[in-house]
Amino acid sequence: QSLIKKLEDTIENFSDFPIPGIQFKDISPIFLEPKLYEEVIEDLVRFSKGKIDAVCGIESRGYLFGIAIAVALEVPFILIRKKGKLPPPVISEKYDLEYGTAEIETREGQIKPGQRILIHDDLLATGGTTEAAAKLVQKQGAKVSQFSFLIALKELKGEQKLQRFDAELYHILE
Ligand code: IMP
Repeated sequence: QSLIKKLEDTIENFSDFPIPGIQFKDISPIFLEPKLYEEVIEDLVRFSKGKIDAVCGIESRGYLFGIAIAVALEVPFILIRKKGKLPPPVISEKYDLEYGTAEIETREGQIKPGQRILIHDDLLATGGTTEAAAKLVQKQGAKVSQFSFLIALKELKGEQKLQRFDAELYHILE
């Protein structure tokens, strides 16, 4: 059975959660199956091997896979967190949500100028979060070389928003 098929059978879909109109994908059943988790990591590692100097993971589900990718490739892992969770000094980036705005942060100095960065998250929806993460990376003089996701929801056109970073983009499912 292919990895795609296995993941499709494992990830659970919920309509109208957490709010009406949203089709929520719950990836938590993957962690009940260590062999499947390992296969996901191998797949994501294959995409990034030899091409990056550090991994940035987006809070919080981006950490679940991002750190394993970084350890496998023996490169640093940097946490991109929601506002107010990291001690100063931090670098921040604001972005728009459907209603209101949000802000993400990294510790200053953890991303080094010139590094080739993989930005990883579990799921790409509108791309707003990932775009803000990419700006955060650029602000620190590093290059966004790759984006990877378990899932990219095509209808929401997140990929278009990320095109201008001129980075490779990979997702296992859509
Ligand atoms: P975006 O900024 O619209 O691309 O939203 C992406 C962010 O929302 C990611 O950090 C995801 O973890 C989270 N997200 C959005 N929809 C889902 C979902 O259906 N399942 C899990 N996470 C989701």
